[in-house]
Amino acid sequence: MQRIEHIYINGEFVIPHGQEWFDLHNPGTEQVIGQVRLGDAVDAQRAIAAAKAAFPSWSRTSREERIAALQRMHRAVAAREEELLQAILVEYGAPAVRGRWMATYPADVIAQAIDALQAFVFEEQAGTARVVLTPVGVTGLITPWNSNAGFICNKLATALAAGCTAVIKPSEMSALQTQVVLSALHEAGLPPGVFNIVNGRGDVVGEEIARHPDVAKISFTGSSAVGQHLVRTSADTMKRVTLELGGKSPTVVLDDSDFQAVMPLVLQAGFLNSGQACIAGTRILVPRSRLAEFEQVAKAGVAQIQSGDPRNADTDIGPMVSRKQWERVQGYIRIGQEEGARLLAGGEGRPEGLQAGWFVKPTVFTDANNRMRIAREEIFGPVLTIIPYEDDAEAIRIANDTDYGLSALVLGKNTERCETVARQIDAGRVLINTLAHEPRAPFGGFKHSGLGREMGKWGMSAYLEPKTLMVGAPLN
Ligand code: NAD
Repeated sequence: MQRIEHIYINGEFVIPHGQEWFDLHNPGTEQVIGQVRLGDAVDAQRAIAAAKAAFPSWSRTSREERIAALQRMHRAVAAREEELLQAILVEYGAPAVRGRWMATYPADVIAQAIDALQAFVFEEQAGTARVVLTPVGVTGLITPWNSNAGFICNKLATALAAGCTAVIKPSEMSALQTQVVLSALHEAGLPPGVFNIVNGRGDVVGEEIARHPDVAKISFTGSSAVGQHLVRTSADTMKRVTLELGGKSPTVVLDDSDFQAVMPLVLQAGFLNSGQACIAGTRILVPRSRLAEFEQVAKAGVAQIQSGDPRNADTDIGPMVSRKQWERVQGYIRIGQEEGARLLAGGEGRPEGLQAGWFVKPTVFTDANNRMRIAREEIFGPVLTIIPYEDDAEAIRIANDTDYGLSALVLGKNTERCETVARQIDAGRVLINTLAHEPRAPFGGFKHSGLGREMGKWGMSAYLEPKTLMVGAPLN
């Protein structure tokens, strides 16, 4: 059992002022595997003070100095890949293949921030003015449990690349992963105070960051409800806010599709990260004229999906992260049936053969409509909803009839037609016949899925304020 007692302030591992200990679980066994001591508002204030003191000199570092620091971070984080993978499997329960991606992504995303910094234009001419992009100040970076290490590294690398300093409030449920990343970042030898990490509850440490006048910007990834709350709280101190929030993303299967060929993408998109992914394609829009055929292929596809021990190489779906999350997902499976949708696969309870662990059966509803709660609310588990449509226009209307707008997938044989549909979908990212990721492109959502963008030059710009300089002739 691991006990994590220290937080990280001003380049040192310190015992927090906060006294509360929080249990960490293995979601595959439900057993307590560790404890983390949580910081409180005083700890957040100390971390903010350290980041504030470090800002003047860090913000004046050159591009080359920042690249050198980020390269040290990259090397240190990459060297911890195996340790991180073990933490991800035991603390989060990501299936091994996904877990491997989650263990490599934190270093990859630092490398991507280096690329963005190398190419970034910090100054440009606008008519007779010089426009200088200057770092906003101290940033508060708040991450969720479903990819904690990746989000810490992405937000921190981008903030530092822009010349900002940071206070990180990681998910309290992911302290083992945070600890691995923190050890690596410490080894990178950045100046004290440039980044600080305070484990703690959202409504204590997160709240203090959101309210504090010395924090100029918040970058938050998490639920839409907390995101909305952060916008309200931040308004008092006029913080800049970037929000990456939830989704209810559509997968639009066009009527010329070969269902056998598209089904692997449909199911991968839907069950991504055991369904605990903001970009999961959980609403599957299918031509009504071919619904029965689609259902048959989908049922056969789901029957092949393995749910179970995340350490097994052939496991596709691991456990839900917590009992609370498991109960929430079970609740939605009940709601779907009460609403009149028909279970095509899965249902309530654990998959056969699993007595313990927060496992959910891969579940697909059909005979659903877009008014149902299972079609409108983010479930955050392996529960998909098939919704029939009549023609392309109706598919687009249903795809856009949602509060969210993070991602979408369009599948079909005719790329031109797919693109015509894709261009009419209101989402931050629309993929056609692929689930590929492009780190140089912006990532973020329309509507309740977020505010602003991360990644590439768009991500960097969010940590910078444009300053217009106008120079007149010397007055003498
Ligand atoms: P959450 O909103 O409950 O928590 C996210 C973080 O916010 C945690 O660190 C939490 O401690 C903190 N927090 C909670 N209350 C707070 C408050 N009052 N003030 C400040 N911070 C507070 O989300 P979660 O359950 O950890 O993650 C799941 C959610 O994240 C899902 O809705 C998912 O869609 C979303 N998500 C979005 C993206 C994206 O890029 N768009 C990526 C991953 C996850």
